[in-house]
Amino acid sequence: MIQPLVYKFGGASVKDADSIENVAKVLNTNWKQGLIVVVSAMGDTTDLLEEIINKAFVREPFSTELEKVESLHQEACQQLFPGNHSIFNRLKNDFSKLKRTLENQKFIEEGEAFFYDQIIGFGELISTRILQEYLCLQGNYCLWQDARELIATDSNHKIGRVDWVLTMQQCRKLLVSQLERYPVITQGFMGSDWLNHTVTLGREGSDFTAAILAVSLGAKSVTIWKDVSGILNGDPDLFPDAVKFEYLDFEEAAEMTYFGAKVIHPKTVKPLAKHKIPLYVKSFVEPSSTGTVIGSFQDDPRIPITVIKKNQVLLTFRIRDLSRIGGFHFEEIFKAAKQQNWTINLIQASAVTLRAVLDVMDKPRLVLPKSLQEVFVVEQQANLSLVTVKNYTQDQESKYGAKENGIRLSQKSPTTLQYLMEKIPL
Ligand code: ASP
Ligand code: MG
Repeated sequence: MIQPLVYKFGGASVKDADSIENVAKVLNTNWKQGLIVVVSAMGDTTDLLEEIINKAFVREPFSTELEKVESLHQEACQQLFPGNHSIFNRLKNDFSKLKRTLENQKFIEEGEAFFYDQIIGFGELISTRILQEYLCLQGNYCLWQDARELIATDSNHKIGRVDWVLTMQQCRKLLVSQLERYPVITQGFMGSDWLNHTVTLGREGSDFTAAILAVSLGAKSVTIWKDVSGILNGDPDLFPDAVKFEYLDFEEAAEMTYFGAKVIHPKTVKPLAKHKIPLYVKSFVEPSSTGTVIGSFQDDPRIPITVIKKNQVLLTFRIRDLSRIGGFHFEEIFKAAKQQNWTINLIQASAVTLRAVLDVMDKPRLVLPKSLQEVFVVEQQANLSLVTVKNYTQDQESKYGAKENGIRLSQKSPTTLQYLMEKIPL
Protein backbone atom coordinates (compact mmCIF):
# COMPACT_ATOMS: atom_id res chain seq x y z
CA MET A 1 0.00 0.00 0.00
CA ILE A 2 1.30 3.47 -0.85
CA GLN A 3 1.69 5.79 2.09
CA PRO A 4 -0.70 8.74 1.63
CA LEU A 5 0.25 12.39 1.79
CA VAL A 6 -2.29 14.95 2.97
CA TYR A 7 -2.42 18.52 1.67
CA LYS A 8 -4.76 21.19 2.95
CA PHE A 9 -5.69 24.41 1.16
CA GLY A 10 -7.66 27.05 3.07
CA GLY A 11 -10.27 29.53 1.87
CA ALA A 12 -7.74 32.24 0.96
CA SER A 13 -5.94 29.88 -1.41
CA VAL A 14 -9.10 29.26 -3.46
CA LYS A 15 -10.76 32.66 -3.12
CA ASP A 16 -11.15 33.29 -6.88
CA ALA A 17 -10.26 31.85 -10.28
CA ASP A 18 -6.66 33.13 -10.22
CA SER A 19 -6.13 31.56 -6.82
CA ILE A 20 -7.60 28.25 -7.96
CA GLU A 21 -5.27 28.31 -10.97
CA ASN A 22 -2.39 28.83 -8.55
CA VAL A 23 -3.46 25.89 -6.38
CA ALA A 24 -3.68 23.74 -9.51
CA LYS A 25 -0.12 24.77 -10.37
CA VAL A 26 1.14 23.91 -6.89
CA LEU A 27 -0.59 20.56 -7.13
CA ASN A 28 0.70 19.88 -10.61
CA THR A 29 4.27 20.33 -9.38
CA ASN A 30 3.62 17.98 -6.47
CA TRP A 31 1.30 15.54 -8.26
CA LYS A 32 1.81 12.04 -6.94
CA GLN A 33 0.08 8.83 -6.07
CA GLY A 34 -1.42 8.77 -2.62
CA LEU A 35 -2.22 12.47 -2.48
CA ILE A 36 -5.32 13.57 -0.55
CA VAL A 37 -6.24 17.22 -0.91
CA VAL A 38 -8.46 18.81 1.74
CA VAL A 39 -10.05 22.08 0.65
CA SER A 40 -12.01 24.84 2.43
CA ALA A 41 -14.80 26.98 1.03
CA MET A 42 -13.83 29.77 -1.38
CA GLY A 43 -12.77 33.04 0.30
CA ASP A 44 -15.47 34.44 2.59
CA THR A 45 -18.13 31.94 1.56
CA THR A 46 -18.49 30.49 5.06
CA ASP A 47 -19.00 33.96 6.60
CA LEU A 48 -21.59 34.79 3.94
CA LEU A 49 -23.35 31.47 4.48
CA GLU A 50 -23.47 32.20 8.21
CA GLU A 51 -25.29 35.47 7.47
CA ILE A 52 -27.70 33.66 5.19
CA ILE A 53 -28.33 30.93 7.75
CA ASN A 54 -29.06 33.48 10.48
CA LYS A 55 -31.64 35.16 8.25
CA ALA A 56 -33.20 31.95 6.97
CA PHE A 57 -33.53 30.62 10.50
CA VAL A 58 -35.74 33.56 11.53
CA ARG A 59 -37.44 33.45 8.10
CA GLU A 60 -36.04 36.75 6.90
CA PRO A 61 -35.28 37.22 3.19
CA PHE A 62 -31.76 36.19 2.19
CA SER A 63 -31.80 36.28 -1.62
CA THR A 64 -29.36 39.22 -1.96
CA GLU A 65 -26.71 37.42 0.07
CA LEU A 66 -27.36 34.15 -1.70
CA GLU A 67 -26.94 35.81 -5.09
CA LYS A 68 -23.61 37.16 -3.91
CA VAL A 69 -22.37 33.67 -3.04
CA GLU A 70 -23.66 32.27 -6.30
CA SER A 71 -22.03 34.95 -8.42
CA LEU A 72 -18.69 34.49 -6.63
CA HIS A 73 -18.71 30.85 -7.74
CA GLN A 74 -20.17 31.57 -11.18
CA GLU A 75 -17.52 34.17 -11.95
CA ALA A 76 -14.69 31.87 -10.91
CA CYS A 77 -16.08 29.09 -13.10
CA GLN A 78 -16.51 31.39 -16.08
CA GLN A 79 -12.80 32.11 -15.98
CA LEU A 80 -11.78 28.51 -15.37
CA PHE A 81 -14.03 26.45 -17.65
CA PRO A 82 -15.30 26.52 -21.24
CA GLY A 83 -18.94 27.66 -21.47
CA ASN A 84 -20.31 24.19 -22.23
CA HIS A 85 -18.65 22.48 -19.25
CA SER A 86 -20.86 20.39 -16.98
CA ILE A 87 -19.76 22.41 -13.92
CA PHE A 88 -22.30 25.11 -14.84
CA ASN A 89 -25.19 22.70 -14.58
CA ARG A 90 -23.82 21.43 -11.32
CA LEU A 91 -23.62 24.96 -9.93
CA LYS A 92 -27.22 25.60 -10.91
CA ASN A 93 -28.43 22.38 -9.30
CA ASP A 94 -26.37 22.80 -6.17
CA PHE A 95 -27.57 26.35 -5.61
CA SER A 96 -31.20 25.37 -6.02
CA LYS A 97 -30.62 22.54 -3.55
CA LEU A 98 -29.04 25.03 -1.16
CA LYS A 99 -32.07 27.30 -1.48
CA ARG A 100 -34.44 24.42 -0.79
CA THR A 101 -32.43 23.42 2.28
CA LEU A 102 -32.57 27.00 3.56
CA GLU A 103 -36.35 26.85 3.29
CA ASN A 104 -36.70 23.42 4.86
CA GLN A 105 -39.07 23.95 7.81
CA LYS A 106 -38.27 20.56 9.29
CA PHE A 107 -34.60 21.45 9.51
CA ILE A 108 -35.43 24.82 11.10
CA GLU A 109 -37.52 23.07 13.72
CA GLU A 110 -34.56 20.86 14.66
CA GLY A 111 -32.87 23.94 16.13
CA GLU A 112 -30.24 26.46 15.12
CA ALA A 113 -27.14 24.26 15.41
CA PHE A 114 -28.64 21.41 13.37
CA PHE A 115 -29.94 23.82 10.72
CA TYR A 116 -26.52 25.52 10.52
CA ASP A 117 -24.70 22.25 9.96
CA GLN A 118 -27.00 21.12 7.16
CA ILE A 119 -26.10 24.26 5.20
CA ILE A 120 -22.72 25.65 6.15
CA GLY A 121 -20.63 22.90 4.50
CA PHE A 122 -22.11 23.78 1.14
CA GLY A 123 -19.13 26.09 0.57
CA GLU A 124 -16.74 23.15 0.82
CA LEU A 125 -18.92 20.83 -1.26
CA ILE A 126 -18.89 23.26 -4.14
CA SER A 127 -15.28 24.48 -3.90
CA THR A 128 -14.00 20.90 -4.02
CA ARG A 129 -16.13 20.19 -7.10
CA ILE A 130 -14.70 23.22 -8.86
CA LEU A 131 -11.11 22.31 -7.99
CA GLN A 132 -11.52 18.65 -8.92
CA GLU A 133 -13.14 19.43 -12.27
CA TYR A 134 -10.51 22.04 -13.00
CA LEU A 135 -7.65 19.66 -12.21
CA CYS A 136 -9.17 17.03 -14.48
CA LEU A 137 -9.54 19.62 -17.21
CA GLN A 138 -5.85 20.40 -16.84
CA GLY A 139 -4.99 16.74 -17.26
CA ASN A 140 -4.42 15.99 -13.59
CA TYR A 141 -7.03 13.31 -13.21
CA CYS A 142 -8.37 13.02 -9.66
CA LEU A 143 -11.43 11.87 -7.74
CA TRP A 144 -13.95 13.77 -5.61
CA GLN A 145 -14.84 12.27 -2.25
CA ASP A 146 -17.60 13.35 0.13
CA ALA A 147 -15.87 13.89 3.50
CA ARG A 148 -19.09 12.98 5.30
CA GLU A 149 -18.57 9.39 4.22
CA LEU A 150 -15.11 9.46 5.78
CA ILE A 151 -15.36 11.41 9.02
CA ALA A 152 -17.70 10.01 11.62
CA THR A 153 -18.78 12.28 14.47
CA ASP A 154 -21.27 12.38 17.29
CA SER A 155 -24.34 14.60 16.93
CA ASN A 156 -22.87 17.60 18.73
CA HIS A 157 -23.70 20.07 15.99
CA LYS A 158 -21.31 22.91 15.14
CA ILE A 159 -18.56 21.25 17.14
CA GLY A 160 -18.73 17.56 16.42
CA ARG A 161 -16.51 15.10 18.26
CA VAL A 162 -14.76 12.58 16.07
CA ASP A 163 -15.38 8.84 16.30
CA TRP A 164 -11.80 7.86 15.53
CA VAL A 165 -12.37 4.13 15.17
CA LEU A 166 -15.25 4.39 12.73
CA THR A 167 -13.47 7.17 10.84
CA MET A 168 -10.42 4.99 10.41
CA GLN A 169 -12.53 2.09 9.11
CA GLN A 170 -14.35 4.34 6.65
CA CYS A 171 -11.17 6.00 5.43
CA ARG A 172 -9.46 2.70 4.84
CA LYS A 173 -12.47 1.23 3.08
CA LEU A 174 -13.15 4.20 0.82
CA LEU A 175 -9.76 5.79 0.25
CA VAL A 176 -7.07 3.15 0.11
CA SER A 177 -8.00 1.62 -3.24
CA GLN A 178 -8.89 4.99 -4.76
CA LEU A 179 -5.53 6.41 -3.76
CA GLU A 180 -3.73 3.54 -5.47
CA ARG A 181 -5.04 4.98 -8.72
CA TYR A 182 -5.67 8.70 -8.39
CA PRO A 183 -5.28 11.63 -6.01
CA VAL A 184 -8.46 12.44 -4.08
CA ILE A 185 -10.02 15.84 -3.40
CA THR A 186 -12.24 16.18 -0.34
CA GLN A 187 -13.81 18.80 1.94
CA GLY A 188 -12.46 20.14 5.18
CA PHE A 189 -14.61 21.03 8.19
CA MET A 190 -17.37 18.44 7.86
CA GLY A 191 -18.32 14.93 8.85
CA SER A 192 -21.56 13.15 9.62
CA ASP A 193 -23.25 11.42 12.53
CA TRP A 194 -24.76 7.94 12.63
CA LEU A 195 -27.98 9.25 11.07
CA ASN A 196 -25.96 10.65 8.15
CA HIS A 197 -26.71 14.21 9.15
CA THR A 198 -23.93 16.66 8.47
CA VAL A 199 -21.97 17.73 11.56
CA THR A 200 -19.20 20.33 11.37
CA LEU A 201 -15.99 20.42 13.38
CA GLY A 202 -15.95 24.10 14.38
CA ARG A 203 -14.96 27.19 12.38
CA GLU A 204 -11.61 26.92 10.65
CA GLY A 205 -11.79 23.17 11.21
CA SER A 206 -10.31 22.11 7.86
CA ASP A 207 -6.80 21.84 9.30
CA PHE A 208 -8.23 19.38 11.79
CA THR A 209 -9.79 17.39 8.93
CA ALA A 210 -6.34 17.05 7.37
CA ALA A 211 -4.99 15.69 10.66
CA ILE A 212 -7.90 13.27 11.08
CA LEU A 213 -7.40 11.83 7.58
CA ALA A 214 -3.63 11.62 8.07
CA VAL A 215 -3.99 9.70 11.34
CA SER A 216 -6.70 7.44 9.93
CA LEU A 217 -4.58 6.45 6.93
CA GLY A 218 -1.15 6.46 8.57
CA ALA A 219 -0.04 9.27 6.23
CA LYS A 220 3.58 10.16 5.67
CA SER A 221 2.97 13.85 6.38
CA VAL A 222 0.48 16.70 6.30
CA THR A 223 1.14 19.96 4.48
CA ILE A 224 -0.96 23.02 5.22
CA TRP A 225 -0.56 25.55 2.40
CA LYS A 226 -1.02 29.13 3.60
CA ASP A 227 -0.53 32.73 2.56
CA VAL A 228 2.33 33.09 5.06
CA SER A 229 5.81 31.66 4.64
CA GLY A 230 5.50 29.25 7.59
CA ILE A 231 5.11 29.60 11.35
CA LEU A 232 6.41 32.88 12.68
CA ASN A 233 7.14 33.90 16.26
CA GLY A 234 4.37 36.54 16.12
CA ASP A 235 1.54 37.70 13.87
CA PRO A 236 3.33 39.44 10.95
CA ASP A 237 0.54 42.05 10.73
CA LEU A 238 1.34 43.13 14.29
CA PHE A 239 5.06 42.33 14.37
CA PRO A 240 6.71 43.24 11.06
CA ASP A 241 10.05 41.84 12.27
CA ALA A 242 8.61 38.42 13.16
CA VAL A 243 10.92 35.53 12.24
CA LYS A 244 10.03 32.21 10.70
CA PHE A 245 10.78 28.87 12.35
CA GLU A 246 12.51 26.33 10.12
CA TYR A 247 11.40 23.62 12.51
CA LEU A 248 9.34 23.47 15.67
CA ASP A 249 8.59 20.78 18.23
CA PHE A 250 5.03 19.40 18.39
CA GLU A 251 4.67 20.58 21.97
CA GLU A 252 5.76 24.13 21.23
CA ALA A 253 3.42 24.29 18.21
CA ALA A 254 0.48 22.85 20.16
CA GLU A 255 1.01 25.39 22.92
CA MET A 256 1.15 28.26 20.44
CA THR A 257 -2.19 27.29 18.98
CA TYR A 258 -3.78 26.88 22.42
CA PHE A 259 -2.52 30.33 23.36
CA GLY A 260 -4.33 31.65 20.31
CA ALA A 261 -1.85 31.67 17.40
CA LYS A 262 -4.16 31.51 14.38
CA VAL A 263 -1.74 29.88 11.99
CA ILE A 264 -3.15 26.39 12.53
CA HIS A 265 -6.36 25.16 14.13
CA PRO A 266 -5.77 24.20 17.79
CA LYS A 267 -7.02 20.63 17.40
CA THR A 268 -4.60 19.81 14.60
CA VAL A 269 -1.26 19.21 16.31
CA LYS A 270 -2.26 16.79 19.07
CA PRO A 271 -3.35 13.82 16.92
CA LEU A 272 -0.36 14.26 14.62
CA ALA A 273 2.02 14.37 17.57
CA LYS A 274 0.55 11.19 18.97
CA HIS A 275 1.21 9.38 15.70
CA LYS A 276 4.46 11.23 14.97
CA ILE A 277 3.23 12.49 11.59
CA PRO A 278 5.18 15.60 10.59
CA LEU A 279 3.23 18.73 9.72
CA TYR A 280 4.58 21.14 7.12
CA VAL A 281 3.32 24.70 6.93
CA LYS A 282 4.18 26.15 3.54
CA SER A 283 3.35 29.15 1.39
CA PHE A 284 1.14 28.73 -1.66
CA VAL A 285 2.51 32.05 -2.87
CA GLU A 286 6.10 30.79 -2.79
CA PRO A 287 5.63 27.04 -2.99
CA SER A 288 9.29 26.26 -3.52
CA SER A 289 10.42 27.88 -0.25
CA THR A 290 10.92 25.59 2.72
CA GLY A 291 8.23 26.72 5.18
CA THR A 292 8.17 25.27 8.69
CA VAL A 293 8.15 21.64 9.71
CA ILE A 294 6.55 20.62 12.99
CA GLY A 295 7.77 17.34 14.38
CA SER A 296 9.68 15.76 17.27
CA PHE A 297 12.53 18.18 17.78
CA GLN A 298 14.09 18.55 21.18
CA ASP A 299 16.46 21.25 20.02
CA ASP A 300 14.03 23.68 18.39
CA PRO A 301 15.03 27.32 18.85
CA ARG A 302 13.60 28.75 22.06
CA ILE A 303 13.12 32.33 20.93
CA PRO A 304 10.32 34.51 22.34
CA ILE A 305 6.95 33.75 20.76
CA THR A 306 4.19 36.31 21.22
CA VAL A 307 0.54 35.43 20.79
CA ILE A 308 -2.26 37.95 21.21
CA LYS A 309 -5.83 36.87 21.77
CA LYS A 310 -8.42 39.62 21.52
CA ASN A 311 -12.08 39.60 22.57
CA GLN A 312 -11.47 38.03 25.94
CA VAL A 313 -13.81 38.21 28.88
CA LEU A 314 -12.71 38.01 32.50
CA LEU A 315 -15.08 36.23 34.84
CA THR A 316 -14.50 36.82 38.53
CA PHE A 317 -16.14 34.22 40.77
CA ARG A 318 -16.45 35.14 44.44
CA ILE A 319 -17.53 32.24 46.62
CA ARG A 320 -20.83 33.19 48.25
CA ASP A 321 -20.41 31.35 51.56
CA LEU A 322 -16.75 32.39 51.88
CA SER A 323 -15.58 28.81 52.07
CA ARG A 324 -12.04 28.20 50.95
CA ILE A 325 -11.54 27.31 47.27
CA GLY A 326 -11.50 23.58 46.68
CA GLY A 327 -11.96 21.02 43.96
CA PHE A 328 -15.72 21.48 44.07
CA HIS A 329 -15.45 25.09 42.92
CA PHE A 330 -13.15 24.24 40.01
CA GLU A 331 -15.45 21.37 39.13
CA GLU A 332 -18.51 23.66 38.97
CA ILE A 333 -16.69 26.05 36.65
CA PHE A 334 -15.33 23.36 34.34
CA LYS A 335 -18.72 21.63 34.26
CA ALA A 336 -20.35 24.87 33.15
CA ALA A 337 -17.58 25.47 30.62
CA LYS A 338 -18.17 22.08 29.06
CA GLN A 339 -21.93 22.60 28.88
CA GLN A 340 -21.61 26.05 27.35
CA ASN A 341 -18.70 25.18 25.03
CA TRP A 342 -16.50 27.82 26.66
CA THR A 343 -12.76 27.65 26.15
CA ILE A 344 -10.93 28.67 29.31
CA ASN A 345 -7.70 30.39 28.33
CA LEU A 346 -6.44 31.13 31.82
CA ILE A 347 -7.61 30.36 35.34
CA GLN A 348 -6.36 31.66 38.65
CA ALA A 349 -7.39 31.10 42.24
CA SER A 350 -6.78 32.91 45.48
CA ALA A 351 -8.50 32.09 48.80
CA VAL A 352 -12.17 32.87 48.06
CA THR A 353 -11.95 34.14 44.47
CA LEU A 354 -11.46 32.40 41.14
CA ARG A 355 -10.78 34.20 37.91
CA ALA A 356 -11.22 32.71 34.47
CA VAL A 357 -10.46 34.18 31.06
CA LEU A 358 -12.60 33.03 28.15
CA ASP A 359 -13.16 33.77 24.48
CA VAL A 360 -16.25 35.84 23.82
CA MET A 361 -18.28 33.84 21.38
CA ASP A 362 -21.44 34.92 19.59
CA LYS A 363 -22.95 36.96 22.39
CA PRO A 364 -21.57 40.16 23.92
CA ARG A 365 -22.39 38.98 27.46
CA LEU A 366 -22.02 35.41 28.55
CA VAL A 367 -25.11 33.79 29.92
CA LEU A 368 -24.18 32.17 33.21
CA PRO A 369 -25.86 28.93 34.20
CA LYS A 370 -27.87 28.98 37.43
CA SER A 371 -25.63 26.37 39.01
CA LEU A 372 -22.75 28.87 38.97
CA GLN A 373 -24.81 31.74 40.28
CA GLU A 374 -25.86 29.67 43.26
CA VAL A 375 -22.27 29.12 44.33
CA PHE A 376 -20.60 32.35 43.22
CA VAL A 377 -21.21 36.05 42.80
CA VAL A 378 -19.95 36.49 39.26
CA GLU A 379 -18.66 39.65 37.59
CA GLN A 380 -17.85 39.98 33.90
CA GLN A 381 -15.46 42.30 32.13
CA ALA A 382 -15.26 42.13 28.34
CA ASN A 383 -13.10 43.72 25.62
CA LEU A 384 -9.82 42.49 27.05
CA SER A 385 -6.78 41.07 25.31
CA LEU A 386 -4.64 38.21 26.46
CA VAL A 387 -0.98 38.47 25.59
CA THR A 388 1.11 35.32 25.99
CA VAL A 389 4.87 35.29 25.55
CA LYS A 390 6.67 31.96 25.56
CA ASN A 391 10.41 32.00 26.18
CA TYR A 392 10.06 35.59 27.38
CA THR A 393 12.81 38.00 28.32
CA GLN A 394 12.87 41.15 30.44
CA ASP A 395 11.99 43.18 27.31
CA GLN A 396 8.54 41.66 26.95
CA GLU A 397 7.95 41.80 30.66
CA SER A 398 8.49 45.55 30.75
CA LYS A 399 6.59 46.18 27.53
CA TYR A 400 3.43 44.22 28.29
CA GLY A 401 3.46 44.39 32.07
CA ALA A 402 3.40 48.21 32.19
CA LYS A 403 0.66 49.67 34.39
CA GLU A 404 -0.75 51.94 31.70
CA ASN A 405 -1.84 48.88 29.71
CA GLY A 406 -4.59 48.34 32.26
CA ILE A 407 -3.43 44.95 33.48
CA ARG A 408 -6.33 42.92 34.84
CA LEU A 409 -4.49 39.67 35.50
CA SER A 410 -1.00 38.31 35.11
CA GLN A 411 0.67 34.95 35.35
CA LYS A 412 4.29 33.99 35.06
CA SER A 413 6.04 30.63 34.91
CA PRO A 414 9.73 30.08 34.18
CA THR A 415 8.91 29.81 30.45
CA THR A 416 5.64 31.63 29.91
CA LEU A 417 4.34 35.08 30.66
CA GLN A 418 0.68 36.07 30.35
CA TYR A 419 -1.07 39.40 30.78
CA LEU A 420 -4.75 40.14 30.45
CA MET A 421 -5.04 43.81 29.58
CA GLU A 422 -7.24 46.62 28.39
CA LYS A 423 -4.79 48.16 25.90
CA ILE A 424 -2.12 46.32 23.94
CA PRO A 425 1.08 48.31 23.43
CA LEU A 426 2.35 47.68 19.90
N1 ASP B 1 -14.70 27.11 5.69
C1 ASP B 1 -14.67 26.87 7.11
C2 ASP B 1 -14.41 28.16 7.85
O1 ASP B 1 -14.13 29.17 7.20
C3 ASP B 1 -13.67 25.84 7.50
C4 ASP B 1 -12.23 26.22 7.23
O2 ASP B 1 -11.96 27.10 6.42
O3 ASP B 1 -11.34 25.64 7.83
O4 ASP B 1 -14.50 28.18 9.04
MG1 MG C 1 -12.23 29.43 5.88
